[in-house]
Amino acid sequence: MNDCIFCKIIKGEIPSQKVYDSPTLLAFKDIHPVSPVHILIIPKKHIPSLSDAAAADQALLGEMLLAAKNIASEKELSDYRIIINNGRGSGQTVFHIHLHLLSGRLFTWPPG
Ligand code: 5GP
Ligand code: ZN
Repeated sequence: MNDCIFCKIIKGEIPSQKVYDSPTLLAFKDIHPVSPVHILIIPKKHIPSLSDAAAADQALLGEMLLAAKNIASEKELSDYRIIINNGRGSGQTVFHIHLHLLSGRLFTWPPG
């Protein structure tokens, strides 16, 4: 999608601090971190939301989760939180599916 900010990051039209890059995924630091570690893991395929994911995306969704685990492992993070916001009411502001990998502080439960 032309107007998608994350697609522009994938194409290099908007700079980002990349953490991981593969043929199918990109991970980069969030521009407004809410914890000392705040990394976004996105597929290079434009899927607006988890609600829009199809059965054919099963492997891609699994790759995203494993990439989050591998990044956490490389950074020696034992405690972290993975979040997917789905829909505006949940806090989703960018409509290109992404995992948030958060770490480096205590998290409350349930989330606010
Ligand atoms: P959401 O609220 O949709 O779950 O998460 C979107 C995230 O993308 C937010 O945490 C926001 O700070 C981040 N973000 C928005 N625009 C940019 C950008 O241009 N660069 C980076 N690195 N992060 C962005
Ligand atoms: Zn996109």
